[in-house]
Amino acid sequence: MIRPLVTHPDSRLRLPSRPVARFDQSLRDLVADMVDTMHDADGIGLAAVQIGVHLQVAVMEVGDRPLRVLVNPQYDALGEPMTLEEGCLSLPGVRERSKTRVDWVRVRAMDLDGNPLEFEAEGLEAACVQHECDHIRGRLYIDHLSAVRRQRLLRRYEAGRRR
Ligand SMILES: [Zn+2]
Repeated sequence: MIRPLVTHPDSRLRLPSRPVARFDQSLRDLVADMVDTMHDADGIGLAAVQIGVHLQVAVMEVGDRPLRVLVNPQYDALGEPMTLEEGCLSLPGVRERSKTRVDWVRVRAMDLDGNPLEFEAEGLEAACVQHECDHIRGRLYIDHLSAVRRQRLLRRYEAGRRR
């Protein structure tokens, strides 16, 4: 089921998410809704907080990489900063080029059954992991931009929302 997206400046995006403790049907239903919502919005990643659920869950589908379901994810940065144009389904209509993500991470998470999951991600998929882990902590990619660039982007965003 496609769920409504929570968009900036909704304060729910700023609340940290709780770790998942129960790996039950309600978690499976949540993940199915997140995948539907991500696909409907043509996104490559979505965190549960973006549909208003404060649990540490993210889904990602980047290019030819497999669909990933990350429960309670963490990562170690292994690579170097890379330049990237980043956007977010919670700030529709704007994107910004920046050098705030590293190009290689090791991810540790759990799968839908609570089994440990570990993999390495590179490039855009690595950036997506960092972006979704930010959401889980109540952060947005615009927080990493300089104040001047953030204000410029938010002016464009507000102008787009009024249209
Ligand atoms: Zn996002």
